[in-house]
Amino acid sequence: MHKIQVEDKEFEIFLENETINKRIRLMGIQMNVDYEKKCPLFIGVLNGSFLFLADLIKEVDIPCEVAFMRVASYEGTSSSGQVKELIGLPENIEGRDIIVVEDIVDTGLTLTYILKTIKEKNPASVKVASLLLKPSALKYEMEDLAYIGFEIPNEFVVGYGLDYNGLGRNLIDIYRATGA
Ligand code: 5GP
Repeated sequence: MHKIQVEDKEFEIFLENETINKRIRLMGIQMNVDYEKKCPLFIGVLNGSFLFLADLIKEVDIPCEVAFMRVASYEGTSSSGQVKELIGLPENIEGRDIIVVEDIVDTGLTLTYILKTIKEKNPASVKVASLLLKPSALKYEMEDLAYIGFEIPNEFVVGYGLDYNGLGRNLIDIYRATGA
């Protein structure tokens, strides 16, 4: 089993880049159908979503726009339960079809806050695309979660944009903590 070390933690291979890309290709195809004749605005939630959004957008061939925003809410390996401020949400989203792009939905706290803030600005529609979802960790109702890459167990993962204390975002595969 392919294992790596990031700081003090050991991780093992979980989702290979090829598997991730195959899934993303299908998500893009679905969006091309769902948003035909529309021009969605993708809003990536930084930092974790940057690789996912970059690869996803290459599979989307309808007209679309891309923006990024940030929310700080997480430290170490467990959710702090505290969401701070939204930074950089595009101004003019009234009447737009928004696709919020997340790396991972854990408890759903971050996303609940983001969706509430976005909906206050009267977009035409809001859907969420998340590469990963931990269904057993979800604490909030998530009816807008339209596109899920992979449902995963409630374990800490790193790689493909996701970090452990700032490290590991550059790994092309996704790894999970071994618990060692
Ligand atoms: P939530 O608010 O849904 O509990 O947490 C969402 C955020 O927590 C994600 O955007 C991500 O930054 C972080 N997060 C949750 N689970 C993991 C994980 O397994 N690995 C990493 N690297 N970050 C995670």
